[in-house]
Amino acid sequence: METLPLGFRLRDRSCLIVGGGEIARRKADLVIRAGAIVTVIAPEIDTDVAKMVTEARGQLKQRPWQADDILDHDLVIAATDDEPLNAAISAACFSQHTPVNVVDAPDLCSVIFPAIVDRSPLIVSVSSNGAAPVLARQLRARLETLIPEGYGRLAAFMREGRPLAKQQLADTRTRRLFWEAVLASNIPQMIYDDKAEQAKVALTAMLKDFHVSAKGEVYLVGAGPGDPDLLTFKALRLMQQADVVVYDRLVSAPILDMCRRDAERIYVGKARAEHTLPQENINALLVRLALEGKRVCRLKGGDPFIFGRGGEEIEELAEAGVPFQVVPGITAASGCAAYAGIPLTHRDYAQSVRFVTGHLKDGTPDLPWQELVHPQQTLVLYMGLVSIGPIRAQLLAHGLSEQTPVAMISKGTTQDQQVLTGTLGNIMDVLAGHTLPAPTLIIIGEVVSLRNKLSWFGES
Ligand code: SAH
Repeated sequence: METLPLGFRLRDRSCLIVGGGEIARRKADLVIRAGAIVTVIAPEIDTDVAKMVTEARGQLKQRPWQADDILDHDLVIAATDDEPLNAAISAACFSQHTPVNVVDAPDLCSVIFPAIVDRSPLIVSVSSNGAAPVLARQLRARLETLIPEGYGRLAAFMREGRPLAKQQLADTRTRRLFWEAVLASNIPQMIYDDKAEQAKVALTAMLKDFHVSAKGEVYLVGAGPGDPDLLTFKALRLMQQADVVVYDRLVSAPILDMCRRDAERIYVGKARAEHTLPQENINALLVRLALEGKRVCRLKGGDPFIFGRGGEEIEELAEAGVPFQVVPGITAASGCAAYAGIPLTHRDYAQSVRFVTGHLKDGTPDLPWQELVHPQQTLVLYMGLVSIGPIRAQLLAHGLSEQTPVAMISKGTTQDQQVLTGTLGNIMDVLAGHTLPAPTLIIIGEVVSLRNKLSWFGES
């Protein structure tokens, strides 16, 4: 982080602004909004600056700046168009450890002014630390439209309710759950509609009846194949609500970062050969956490019900009487195919698609070969890279042509996606020259040849 955003409590503190023109006016406006008492020093002070500052209990000193002017101020802003002067003010402040902002000179600042969305008492600040001010402003404008006008009133209303909630609800977790329930209720709408009295009555009633069920719940959430943009809204909402996140290897780091910041994170592994936690233990862990009253997000790569053992996990939850929800995710087949430019079905090439697992049982793939060699069908092989040799041999032996196109997609949908293509005939040679990092998905069928036609996807 280039700067750490801290909130500066400026109410009744003294702020020195050196400069009396337009730039000074904009800064004065901001610090006055935060309650600062402003002193403006400049040989010439615009009338609107003078008016604004004196109306806000400030002082004007119409003269040049001197080095000892910075003493006794909590914040100094250099807002002149004289660069050497700005640099001198900055140097004086640094030597006194006084926070200083120099307009349009990030290197001379110890504090910067981020772009803000003001919904006081709620404040959102955005800064690119001088790298891309236009980008920061655009983001601020988007947030402006995203955050309802009434959010400030809502935050103020919640602040007012805090002492009562604290009095009636014993611990912090219960209080957090209470406020989450408030936000999910119709109370915010009452505040947006300016019906504060009605909202107060509703809040008091809710507080009286509020109890946290002793039992938690489990959300079995599909996190998609890797790209965080492929999460569903529901997945994101539950990820941000859960107290504990239980995740495995397929869940990418950027997705994990989107879970609630203070949620406990438990890694339960599952690379092909190293089962970090055996499935029974994962099932038992989910039940135990839920029975402790926690909201558990069981985060799985792709879709939880496609080769994800989600079925087994919910079976155990159902037996233990733990409530659960299942959130579907984009499965690797859809994600990888789309990002590699391969349509899984196509009117002319494939009227059906089959998802099969290449996971070996006792060292040999055990699949209904006769059903897999249908010429107008796309085959998608999950966990198939290690067994591609024997699988290929069986498909050929059962009549699939050597010319059948094959694509292997490694780390599909992520920034590291790689795609190798070949045919059933030469795929082992293609593979010999490469190491493909896991996870890898294999797509077999004529649709793979369309990849070349869909040239806008480029080559990878
Ligand atoms: N439930 C998951 C699949 C779990 S099985 C889903 O619906 O996608 C694990 C296999 O999925 C891997 O061996 C690989 O074949 C495939 N896979 C998952 N994510 C992938 C990705 N980003 N790129 C390529 N293959 C992936």
